[in-house]
This record gives sequence, structure tokens and C-alpha cells, in this order.
Amino acid sequence: MATYIVGYVIIYVSLVKLILGAEVFPRFKPYKINIKNVSGLFDYTQYQPFNMIEKELHKISKSQLKSVEAKLFSIGTTFENRSLWALKIEEKDTRKLKKNIVIDCGAHAREWLAPSTCMYIINKLTLEHPSLRNTKLIKRFNWIIIPVLNPDGYAYTWHNQSTRLWRKNRSFTEKQINFINEKNDELCIGVDINRNFDEEWGGVGAPANPCFEMYAGDKPFSEKESIALSNFLNTTINETLAYISLHAFGLSWMTPWGFKKQLPKSFNEMKRVAQIAVNAMKKLSGVKYSIGTSHDKLYPNSGSSIDWAHSKLHIPYTYLIEMLPGNNKTSSIDMSSFMPPPNMMVQNAKDILEGLSAMALSLLTPIRM
Ligand SMILES: [Zn+2]
Repeated sequence: MATYIVGYVIIYVSLVKLILGAEVFPRFKPYKINIKNVSGLFDYTQYQPFNMIEKELHKISKSQLKSVEAKLFSIGTTFENRSLWALKIEEKDTRKLKKNIVIDCGAHAREWLAPSTCMYIINKLTLEHPSLRNTKLIKRFNWIIIPVLNPDGYAYTWHNQSTRLWRKNRSFTEKQINFINEKNDELCIGVDINRNFDEEWGGVGAPANPCFEMYAGDKPFSEKESIALSNFLNTTINETLAYISLHAFGLSWMTPWGFKKQLPKSFNEMKRVAQIAVNAMKKLSGVKYSIGTSHDKLYPNSGSSIDWAHSKLHIPYTYLIEMLPGNNKTSSIDMSSFMPPPNMMVQNAKDILEGLSAMALSLLTPIRM
């Protein structure tokens, strides 16, 4: 862990220099990793804009893969009419009914590490099959991965440095337009997708003022992204064993609840599995994640997707993972926090895949609550 932080400080300084330089965003030095690449055009060691992610998803879904199928489908569209892509990765030619593990990335636009991690996981599960581990993972589960849950916001963060730290989506209502005109404040656009789910909506940590970064929206499920994800989870309710939402940053593997201190009934079981995941990551790279409820580990928050999925759909295992960097003196809410350099980006993706794999192989199929 110590080397992690030291490395981060050095890289952070060079990153600041780059940001102050001529480039809009730093183009990191090429970084070699062992990864298969269907198109040869998608660089898994660099952050990629939404259109490149879309192209790569299409290419992977059209590739002739060994013993694994990758089906690309859209779970909905956004306010600016982008597709909400999901990739289902499953065993080829099998009629065996399997449980789903659903993962979303990039609900918060500026957290670029999340889409890049989802893309890495997709690559490894599809193109590196059949490795021994991946064979086990795919024989036991269907993996459904939504690499960019907030493509409008994500595309906006690619405009320039002043938009880079945008968090919400880009939708607006008449009420929001009035706010913008009145306050002359662009921040009044958009809704925090992860405060818009119908579980204690509008409660603690989910403000009703549109000009706040965590604005919960006009009503529960006012947003096309939260509607699309909730519809998808609703239609696959009986097959879904785990739902995970990837975020950055803070190095914590969190369970519900966000809106209250009280623990969910199945907290001990969710914690048992999280501990296995966190131990596997520590063994791989030395990274140290902490475990707890999002109320305790993060801050009180309402209307989150994991709370809704656990409470309303009774999905047995729901987690929100805050990835790199750690929440310490070397990190703050600035561009570098949401843009770790390639070596950290790739190590983070390896760690998360390791943790999710260990998680998957230790899940029990409980009798539904
Ligand atoms: Zn987030």
C-alpha cells in the first residue's frame, strides 16, 4: 500500500504539469499490458471516449469467440438519445439456466476509472476465455455488464477541462431551466442518477435543489438511465443473484444501506462475501479495501441503485465499490482523482476482476427473502 501512495504522489505531480500544459487531457505514455484486442484500435491503457467504447463493444459482440457468447443489447436511451449498452457474456450453446451477475459502471460521469474497468473486465471475460478461471466464472454465471450508465454525462466530461468534473447526467426540466436563468448557473442541469432510485428517494444526502451535484431529480425514476436499469433488473429479477455498481474513489466495498445506519438483514452474509473479494485483491496487489455500509463508509445517501435493488427487488447481493485512489491526503476532488494514470488504471482493473471473481465463486444461492 505504501508504494501505491508514493507512486501516486509522483504521478500526480506530473499529471498536474500535463494539465497545465497545452493538452486538454493528458495523453499518457504508452503502457504495455498483456491483453488481446479484437480491433487493434482500442487502447485498454488509455481512457476512451464514448464512441470508441461503443465501437469496441460492437466489435467484441461480432467476434467469433471460443465457447463464450457476447450479446450486445440496449437497455434504453438517454436524454440526448445515446444508447445504454449492456453486454451479456455467457457460455455458448448451453441450455443450462444460470444466475446473472449484473455490473454497471459510470453512473457518475467524471469517474472515468469505472468505464475503463468495465471494458477491461469485458475484454478478459470474452477474449481470454477459456482460461481456467474464466471457464469457471462463465460456467456458473451469466455476466451482464453496462460499461457506461451515464453516457450523456460521460461525453460531456470529454468536452474540455471545465466540464471534466461533471457528475450528473445532462437532462433538464422546465423547473431547471428557470433555475439556470435565475441564477445564471449551468450547474442546475442534470440529475444524479444514483440518487434517483425509488428507495427513500429525496431523503438524506439527496437534495431537492437542482443546482446541487447530488440532485435527486423531480421524482423517483424521473431519469431515463434509472428507468432503464430498473426495468432491466425488474425483468431479470429471478435470475439475478448479484448487482454491483462500480464507482471511484475511496477503496471501499460497500453494502446497503445508504439512507440509514441500521444494517440490512443479510449484512453478515454480504460482508462474508465482500471479505473474500477484498482478501483476493489484497493478495494480488496489496491493495487494501475496507468493508461496510455505504452510510458508514461513504456518507448518508438516499435513492441509490444498490439500496433499491436490495430492498425492492430482494437481489441477495448488492454492492457499491469505490475504487482507486484511496481516500487520503494525496487525493481530493480534482481531475487527477478521477483519472489515475495507466499503471494504476490497469492494476485497478486487475484487482477488481480478481475481487469480482472471488466474489462470484463464493456466492450462495439463498432462498429469496
Ligand atoms: Zn460515484
